[in-house]
Amino acid sequence: MAQISNGHLPTVDSTRITVPVIAGTNRLEPRLRQHTTRSTRGHPTVVDLLLRPTPVRARFRLSPSDLTFLWEECPKCFYEKYHRLGSRPRIPFPSVFTRIDNAMRAYFVGKSTAEVSPLLPPGHLTCEETFIVSHDIIVPGREATCYIAGKTDCLAHFTTGGYGIVDFKTTEHKDARLALYRRQLAAYAYCLEHPAPHSLHLSPVTHLGLLCVEPRQMLTIVGNRRNYLFMGAPAWKPCSIAESEFVEFIGQVLDVLMLPVAPTANAACPFCAYRVGSGRA
Ligand code: SF4
Repeated sequence: MAQISNGHLPTVDSTRITVPVIAGTNRLEPRLRQHTTRSTRGHPTVVDLLLRPTPVRARFRLSPSDLTFLWEECPKCFYEKYHRLGSRPRIPFPSVFTRIDNAMRAYFVGKSTAEVSPLLPPGHLTCEETFIVSHDIIVPGREATCYIAGKTDCLAHFTTGGYGIVDFKTTEHKDARLALYRRQLAAYAYCLEHPAPHSLHLSPVTHLGLLCVEPRQMLTIVGNRRNYLFMGAPAWKPCSIAESEFVEFIGQVLDVLMLPVAPTANAACPFCAYRVGSGRA
């Protein structure tokens, strides 16, 4: 067994090595470095091994929403965001969508899962925004690790056991980009099934999907012409993604994040052209 303490010269016996250190630090006194790190026949000594810096495993906190459009649109921007090297200009998110989202959560709270879709098992919905965090995701062969932290819109609790994740979207039912949200939902499912200590733990998560509402028509309430209703049929878009597939995808994300320099920018993005043209890149 090896031990580091505030002593004098290194002493070695068959079971213990005691190495002096500078008081209050874990570093060896400089005068002892050469002595203690000398190798025997070219092999590292036990003291060499003790002095070897412990490799620090890079650890990233990923947001589920970044795994959709940001990742898909430009790995360079993704890389720069997570390495705190800058980000593209923010496009203001219209607050009306947040209001619509809040109204949908207020409507569905406590409702039956059949309100979302008859395809879901019987149960009820809870719609408080829930902050969830995963434990560290270790992907074989990757030095770096990451964990996921995000907020769910709505959770389904099935009476026969199991849980579902429902994400509300105000969008066209035929929006081709909806497929990208599979990763976001899979990230939420991973957090619930593999939570960090003290984070919400729900398992198994058996159903994931988007409830898309596309406003199509405007009406007035009879007798109250100062209030309008927007009518839009909901469409349930179930998603599925195997956990192994999700972890494999996270491996690709870590591969990019561990590159020594950012990958190539998206040539179609006008922001980088502006940054280069204005000398800000
Ligand atoms: S091209 Fe440049 S600004 Fe545009 S998304 Fe990529 S890194 Fe960001």
